Amino acid sequence: MSEEIGKLLELQEKDRERYDLLTRLEQLKEEHLRIEQKLAEEQSAVEERCQQVKQLSHDSRGKNLEVDDVDTQIRNYQKRLDEGIISFKEMEALQAKIANQRNRIDEMEDNAIELMDMMEIAEAKLVEVERDLDEQKRCFASRSARISSQILEAKEKLESREQERAAIKDRFPAHLLSHYEGLHSQFDDPVVAIVNGLCSGCKLKLNSTTIERARTETEIVTCQNCSRILYIT
Ligand SMILES: [Zn+2]
Repeated sequence: MSEEIGKLLELQEKDRERYDLLTRLEQLKEEHLRIEQKLAEEQSAVEERCQQVKQLSHDSRGKNLEVDDVDTQIRNYQKRLDEGIISFKEMEALQAKIANQRNRIDEMEDNAIELMDMMEIAEAKLVEVERDLDEQKRCFASRSARISSQILEAKEKLESREQERAAIKDRFPAHLLSHYEGLHSQFDDPVVAIVNGLCSGCKLKLNSTTIERARTETEIVTCQNCSRILYIT
């Protein structure tokens, strides 16, 4: 293998490593974003439950106040019945009001109990989801730290590949480099071996002149079909 081909293969290898590192970086960034989104979703679910508990607590307080109001009304009616000098008609009317308000208060008390039960269940669930969220946060923090250090590691490796790549590129004649770069924009493997008379890039059979020229290693030989740079191992 000629020295030029050797250097081209070295460059190709650096490009492959660079591509793998870039892919890895993208994957890591996506993974980080995914776990961030998952945590944000969990957080908003907990906030929603917290709001639900607050609303139930507010409704429950309101219902208890309503019960107290109606209770006061009943007491007032009863007081007028017990103390006032009133007509029979008024007495009947007050008794009807008391009976009516007592029915209302029973219903309201049932509602108040129902609301308190709902609130207890919601509070217990909130405690549970808050505990889960704490666990998720701990898990997120350690995964996030791990991913961040992997990202950093990949970036450092990438930077050193870039430097190695630049150093290799500096040693190439401009025309050869531009030929390689042109091919590299189309293929991951611009430099390929001739295997059993075939270009191992496009898999087409090469003519004997091309194979012979590659064997002599006096010049850069390309595939007549895909233009990849060829060499014989
Ligand atoms: Zn080819």
